[in-house]
Amino acid sequence: MKRIIYSCPYVPAEWIAAHGLQPSRIIPDPAASSAVRRPADCRKTGAGASPIGPVEGLCPYVRAFLNEAINDKRACGVVVTTVCDQMRRGFDVLTRQCNIASFLMNVPRTWQTFAAQKLYLDELGRLSLFLVRLGGNSPTPDALAEVMLQYDAARRSIRASRAYLSARQYAEAIAALGQEGPAQGRKSEMGRGVPLAIIGGPLTRGDFDIFDIVEQSGGKIVLDATETGERGMCGPFDRRRLHEDPLTELANAYFGGIQDASRRPNSELYRWLGHELAARAVRGIIFRRYVWCDTWHAELQRLKEWTDLSVLDIDVAGDTDTERRRWQNRIRAFLETLT
Ligand code: SF4
Repeated sequence: MKRIIYSCPYVPAEWIAAHGLQPSRIIPDPAASSAVRRPADCRKTGAGASPIGPVEGLCPYVRAFLNEAINDKRACGVVVTTVCDQMRRGFDVLTRQCNIASFLMNVPRTWQTFAAQKLYLDELGRLSLFLVRLGGNSPTPDALAEVMLQYDAARRSIRASRAYLSARQYAEAIAALGQEGPAQGRKSEMGRGVPLAIIGGPLTRGDFDIFDIVEQSGGKIVLDATETGERGMCGPFDRRRLHEDPLTELANAYFGGIQDASRRPNSELYRWLGHELAARAVRGIIFRRYVWCDTWHAELQRLKEWTDLSVLDIDVAGDTDTERRRWQNRIRAFLETLT
């Protein structure tokens, strides 16, 4: 099946799958994706799609995503959104550096008006034309509704599995939903420890170690509010609306249901956090942000002013191996202050 890669949570996997294509939400590996490739690996005749190295001012996640997309030989298309300015500029790099078909989806930052909601819906229509050009089939409402029900069931199953999966397994199960489609979680021993939340942008593959580091240090992440985690998952679909008008329900669940720091206003992000932090009795917050990410950097101060909980700020430059030791020490010290 032809594979469409993306990373933004506002791209509905169901919409791609309903076109008969395989949605694949990339969890990039910064180390692997920056490995040196020979020019012959490049799809674009005469161009050198060499990996992008660390660049001052470039978010390490954007760099890892671009490298992964440039070097992905199985993907037939990539979808990038305008949620992040750096990603938007990354789209230009993609169109210049490789032949993979690329689509820039406009996701409005404002969300309260009918015009913003209609723009998002129109963008799904434009995305559909792109997918059809790549060999997909425009889905009937019934076909879309069926795919939505499958994904909805998978998300319910993952949410239910939180009770018996380790924090890392739960985070990986959520991430895998975007990569492999609906699947069931595995049972495992639950860890115990001081309940923490992790808040921030998307994780790369090596970053999942942070869940283990927290458990080894006497804590447990009970709320994964990263973009790759629960915060990036849309809520349950309304069954009646799903059958009446599945595309509008899909747009409502994604555009209306996923909260992000980039939204204007982003008051709903704090409403969601307030509810989840209290429901899970969280005692401290790990605020994980990439250096050179203005969006999340700007949110740090606001979060500290908003919450009574202790906040540990961890900035990540993309070199997970070197940074792991620093995280360990800081997380251990942070947990000592909470016990
Ligand atoms: S972490 Fe920040 S800069 Fe990087 S992709 Fe996300 S929003 Fe963009």
